[in-house]
Amino acid sequence: MTGAGEDAITKTAAESAAAQAATGAVPDAVAGAAMEVTEDRPGPDYGARRRDARRTVRRQRLAVVIFALLMVLAGPASGLGASEFVSVDGVVAQIGRDTTLAQLTGLQDLSLQPGSTLDVTGDVILPGGGASGFVSVNGRPFPAIGVLHDGATIVGRRGADRTERLRREEKGIAPVWETRGSGPVVTQVREGKPGLEERFRGEHSTAPVAAFVLREAEVGLLERTSAVPTGHKAVALTFDDGPSEHTVEILAILEKKGVPATFFWIGKVAASYKSVTANARAAGHEIENHTWGHADLTKLGADGLSAEISRGAAAVGGARFLRPPYGAYNAAVAAEAARQGQRIAMWDVDTLDWKIRDAASIASRVKAAVKPGAVILMHDGGGDRSQTVAALPGIIDWLLMNGYSLTTLQGMSTG
Ligand SMILES: [Zn+2]
Repeated sequence: MTGAGEDAITKTAAESAAAQAATGAVPDAVAGAAMEVTEDRPGPDYGARRRDARRTVRRQRLAVVIFALLMVLAGPASGLGASEFVSVDGVVAQIGRDTTLAQLTGLQDLSLQPGSTLDVTGDVILPGGGASGFVSVNGRPFPAIGVLHDGATIVGRRGADRTERLRREEKGIAPVWETRGSGPVVTQVREGKPGLEERFRGEHSTAPVAAFVLREAEVGLLERTSAVPTGHKAVALTFDDGPSEHTVEILAILEKKGVPATFFWIGKVAASYKSVTANARAAGHEIENHTWGHADLTKLGADGLSAEISRGAAAVGGARFLRPPYGAYNAAVAAEAARQGQRIAMWDVDTLDWKIRDAASIASRVKAAVKPGAVILMHDGGGDRSQTVAALPGIIDWLLMNGYSLTTLQGMSTG
């Protein structure tokens, strides 16, 4: 019978395969057996299908035996099938053994925000400008390649805040000065010296943090005097902002009355009135410095201040007095003027002729405020000075009638 013969042959083949597997079969045999389980191969008849099923069961049993054997041989160190539990930002997660931090699924969900840049007062000025966020394991920073162990507590940490850097700067301390006495002539007795301090500010916020004085400023001393010895009933007529066409008229009046005056001229204007300047000086009048361009000297830097004074003086042929435009001066102006051999000349009587252009008003202001040693301020330039010209003869007559002698600033200073 061919059926029984076939069965015997098949059985023999299966048994020889089992014997081969028991003496050192490769794991491929296990995979081969597993495939047989799911394969539903159509057979030529019922008998053939039954034989296939019997063969499959035998191979399944064989695979289980081999797998168990491998597990025993490999021991627990193989890690096959082992798992551990860790806490990721408070959520328990299951991981395989030897999982590194970098391999951890869900790492992206950890809160790893960077810190911020803070200003020196603690306010945030640049979100994200601080240190990077990081992962801590069991409370400590943890490397990405580090292997996680069972029970590890993994937390995303926000990076540390960073306080802005400080910027140091040095700043001069303006010299302080004291003024002693009163009177129109300002003399520098002692030069004030600027001090120095260092300041610290936030680099971005510029908020001040601290300041330390490196060197104190030295107090300067200015002395104001009338420059007229007591008992001398002398006054000085002074004219600012010229020369101009009115200057010629004023010079004519002064010549007629036989009295001298002091002119504080603007250098760049005087440069185009050279003959007027020469004539005035020849007539015994004094020409002094009102700067080169009528600048507010207190608003200039050292170089500008120096140039305004020196060019102004040169334009009028040298000067011993400086009348600062707008009457504006400070310790720096006084110091620079002193370096150039000039004293500051202010005034006692302001006629306000530049503002109230009325001859009677100009004259009455002189009469009301004049005193021995007074320096009287008028203007021969900078606008319409016809009312000044009109008031002048009467003012001179009144002063002479009241016992005053008229002199120049230099004449007053030397007595
Ligand atoms: Zn002026």
